[in-house]
Amino acid sequence: MGKNAITIFRVYGIDIRIDPSWLLIAALFVWNLSAQYFPQLLPGLSQKTYISLGVVAMLGFFASLLLHELAHSVVAIFYGLKITGITLFFFGGVAGLKSEPKDARSEFWISIAGPAMSFALAGLGYLMSNILAGVGADDPVVVLFAYLGVANLVLAIFNLVPAFPMDGGRVLRAFLWYLRSDLEYATRIASRLGSALGVGFMALGLFSVLNGAGVGGFWLILIGFFVLGSSRSAYENQKAERILLGHTVDQIMTRAPVSVSPQTTIDELVRDVILGKNVGFVPVMNGVELLGYIDRKILHGIDRNTWGDLTVGDVYSPLSPDNSVTGDFLVKDLIERMQIGGQKKFLVVHDRQLLGVISFADIISYISLENEFGLIGK
Ligand SMILES: [Zn+2]
Repeated sequence: MGKNAITIFRVYGIDIRIDPSWLLIAALFVWNLSAQYFPQLLPGLSQKTYISLGVVAMLGFFASLLLHELAHSVVAIFYGLKITGITLFFFGGVAGLKSEPKDARSEFWISIAGPAMSFALAGLGYLMSNILAGVGADDPVVVLFAYLGVANLVLAIFNLVPAFPMDGGRVLRAFLWYLRSDLEYATRIASRLGSALGVGFMALGLFSVLNGAGVGGFWLILIGFFVLGSSRSAYENQKAERILLGHTVDQIMTRAPVSVSPQTTIDELVRDVILGKNVGFVPVMNGVELLGYIDRKILHGIDRNTWGDLTVGDVYSPLSPDNSVTGDFLVKDLIERMQIGGQKKFLVVHDRQLLGVISFADIISYISLENEFGLIGK
């Protein structure tokens, strides 16, 4: 989720993005409000008025979500964390933190800031609708503010459900972290509760669908599904981070990889190495001298009919700081490079000498070995 998000604007250097799924939800929202909610509370108005009210209410809710996420972000920045941006997706937002909070206290304040903002907006909506009603404003305006008050209240309460990684789950994790000074333990308990609640939401949703609740039930199933998935992955990520802590590239890389000489034709390379030895990333060596690499991506750009005429030397990608790392490079920093730069496989070098190659797959397989046989989390 979030890969297709579109950046709409920037505040305080924070990119505000919307996931395309949000547009669908926004449309459903407007439809639901203008066909049901407003006609029930304000009978006798024109269809056009209901739709306008629906659109304004949706935009108000959109702004509320944004303020909720901005509250998280501002507090996170106050604690010195970097924000990658805010993405609004189907039923909420995510403020992307570049790193996790460093202690229980900052995690608590960052997590509580969003719901606190929503509670404040709920109060504001309630207050405004009362004041406006008191001075005799038009009914639609009064109802609109009352609606925004209720919507923010629901947003605040919903986010406080202790299902990690939702805000409430993060508050719980901060509390456990504070009590035991053990982040692994706190994350494990909070995400287990998150998974259990996710399953609970799904069961409740299914139950209400079977009992004729309709859309509301599907909503709950969807939320449960999301909570279950993200609580699991949040825990796995945190565990993987711990496993990799302090590990360097030379501990995980593939040693003595298959290499090719620049004189090899592309035909030979594909037949004997890529297919013959089942490798997709091949260092190019002239004797003991490392020249660079050739991989599937480079091959994709070459016309098959020319495979017999071209040699590896004609097309390989030369050794550069962009495609190589040293053996003492930290694995966690390499993952960040993979995420930012898109390059997923690297030559591991020392003074232009090839030590090995490392790929994202090597890192994943190491994590799963540690999971099975290592000491962390046992
Ligand atoms: Zn939040």
